[in-house]
Amino acid sequence: MSDDFINRPSPVDAQRVQVEALGEPGQRRFRMLLIVNGETHIIWLEKQQLQALALMIEQMFEDAVSDSPMLQSDDTFQEFDNDADHQFRLGKVDLGFDETGDSVVIGAYDLQQDEQNGQPALSVRLNRRQALALSADVAALAAAGRPRCPMCGAPKDPSGHVCPEQNGHLPLTYEEEEIEG
Ligand SMILES: [Zn+2]
Repeated sequence: MSDDFINRPSPVDAQRVQVEALGEPGQRRFRMLLIVNGETHIIWLEKQQLQALALMIEQMFEDAVSDSPMLQSDDTFQEFDNDADHQFRLGKVDLGFDETGDSVVIGAYDLQQDEQNGQPALSVRLNRRQALALSADVAALAAAGRPRCPMCGAPKDPSGHVCPEQNGHLPLTYEEEEIEG
């Protein structure tokens, strides 16, 4: 953790966090919604940024085994405000472990302010449950955007798909019979 990270203003706890994809497959826009101090914050970001963030979160918790149980308060039931004043497009993001070792602090930088201002636009703390739920949601969102296998309905991975409907060991091929006449 750098001095820069320690010296910044104290992070605030997320009361609720959610990721969303808007629009049609192939043209989807992604955003993260957070409720902080009773106010909605909306961070617009690229799918790749979202996936990178999810991966970083998973790796962090993988490396840090917590001996404390997940005694964490439930999320607020407050609805997100879709017209929130606090909206920005994500530039860079950094991630650090909170001193408790059981939550992550996300420093999200406004793309527009990245150059002028060394501080994140939002420095927010997610507890373990919120953070891991977030990365699971990102995986589900990413899968939902992939084309589905016509045989089994599962999302097809770009690296190939081993279809359980094909006994799981045959690569999927599409054979179309030409019917003459
Ligand atoms: Zn399949």
